[in-house]
Amino acid sequence: MSWEVVLTADRGTFTDYNGSSPLGYVACLPSRLVPRYFMDKFFTPPIKAYDTGEAFVAPYGLRKVEAILAKNGISVVVSPPEHLEKAIDRNTKVLGINVHDPYALSPVTTKLTMIFGGGDSWTSKFFKELGEKVKSLKLKYGFKVIIGGPAAWQIALDIPDWVDAVLDGEAEIDFPDLVKKIENGEQVPKVTYGRMPKVEEIPTIIKPSRFGEVQITRGCPRGCQFCSITPETFRSIPMDDIIKEVKLNIDHGIRGIELLTDDIMLYGSKKLQVNHEALVNLFTTVKKLGATHIYFPHISAPGAKSSPKTVQAIAEIAEYDKYTAEAPVVGLESGSERIISKYMRGKPFPWTPHDWGDVIIDATGIMVDNNIHPCYTMTIGYPDETDEDIEESIKLVQRMIDADLKAWIFPLPVIPMTASRLKGNEFPWIDTIPTKYWDILYLSWKHSIKVTKDLFPYLTSEMRNPIIQWVVRSMNDRVFSGVEKVFKELAETKGKVSEEYGKVEFDSFTGTVKTLYYLATLGLKSRRLAKSPVSTGNAY
Ligand code: SF4
Repeated sequence: MSWEVVLTADRGTFTDYNGSSPLGYVACLPSRLVPRYFMDKFFTPPIKAYDTGEAFVAPYGLRKVEAILAKNGISVVVSPPEHLEKAIDRNTKVLGINVHDPYALSPVTTKLTMIFGGGDSWTSKFFKELGEKVKSLKLKYGFKVIIGGPAAWQIALDIPDWVDAVLDGEAEIDFPDLVKKIENGEQVPKVTYGRMPKVEEIPTIIKPSRFGEVQITRGCPRGCQFCSITPETFRSIPMDDIIKEVKLNIDHGIRGIELLTDDIMLYGSKKLQVNHEALVNLFTTVKKLGATHIYFPHISAPGAKSSPKTVQAIAEIAEYDKYTAEAPVVGLESGSERIISKYMRGKPFPWTPHDWGDVIIDATGIMVDNNIHPCYTMTIGYPDETDEDIEESIKLVQRMIDADLKAWIFPLPVIPMTASRLKGNEFPWIDTIPTKYWDILYLSWKHSIKVTKDLFPYLTSEMRNPIIQWVVRSMNDRVFSGVEKVFKELAETKGKVSEEYGKVEFDSFTGTVKTLYYLATLGLKSRRLAKSPVSTGNAY
């Protein structure tokens, strides 16, 4: 079979993270620190494909672009990077690549590469590897390459010579035109900014998505200045379209459904008012269609505080009490009223920046009571942020610790994404990040490690691969205290010790052997502890 357009992504995106999407964060670490064998087998294994090179399942973004092109009469296939040789031939006119973090500039990757001594992350290494393969296929078949996706802004900063065009923004209106122009041999601009379609112009996906992903909203009206989503207009996807996509996935045997959104509490809302009926109807419908699990990646603290009865209702319908593994990402950002006022005034709505600390504490209690454990992200390093501002953030983190709230807290550096209103600012690094960053990092990680230990049995209960489950469950107090020691050293040296971490190399044959030995001895140790009558270790 031949297709005009082949769509793909690098392995950091085109994987199912072994059935557990949090494992994807391992790809944000420097590639030196994680042996390739572990990436291939446990953290970012390849997705299977048919003999034609077509993927069994694919990340939602690629499935959406596939549906957009098919609707415009263009023949298209989605293929994992390992199978491109089978999907591409002389009839291929365009290769479309979806990127999430090709240059390791996302907030999480920037933080992890910075504190562990720099170098390529796995995300950027996977992109480089894909680039090498694409260059040789392009030489052989002469197709053109278009890059798009949420991190197209990174590519636009420095466009590789093997890339013909970049689409930054949404695909529905501009991508089919771009493809047709390229097919007709017309000149196209190096960077095209994709316009926003109306909700009725967004087609439903036509083939199954990884994790049963189904988009329920696009955009976010809160308008935070550091966020690349800021310029978008908020839209809720109609229920009929959601039902079609949920059914499609369930018909393909995918019964865990992930509702993609930047804030689950925004579904069906107008002017940021929670729409209780719309959310209850959404969860009830998805459950009735046959979903065993319903996940969502994001929720906002003001949304949760605005309507505790809605949080309780969706948690009951989704039965979070049964598996306690719902851990959406929630923006905490800062404890400083001044920073919230200046850079994200709409974030606390319907409350004010002055109320922000109470909103966070109250919302966390509401979520945790309903078995939803937030992964809070903080943003540190605004252009005029002072030590006093960070002190206020530290006080807010301490309030959560004192209340023993079971929520993770991850302070991240502010990244000047080009689609955000902070573009043009300097990218953060050890010598530019505020020195108090290291104190809040240590405090937050200490608490996050405690939360992880407390919730460990629940967090690992859904893992598909028994080996990775064993590896993770073998982690005991020794591993956790090792991680805590790293963050303590970073705080004590104000990040200087990260230069030492830059010399560590595990992605080699001896590194792999050392890592396997280390994990094996951890496993043996934890089994011994489990048998010991005086054991106090977490030997699950
Ligand atoms: S609330 Fe979240 S998604 Fe919305 S603009 Fe702010 S950071 Fe972006």
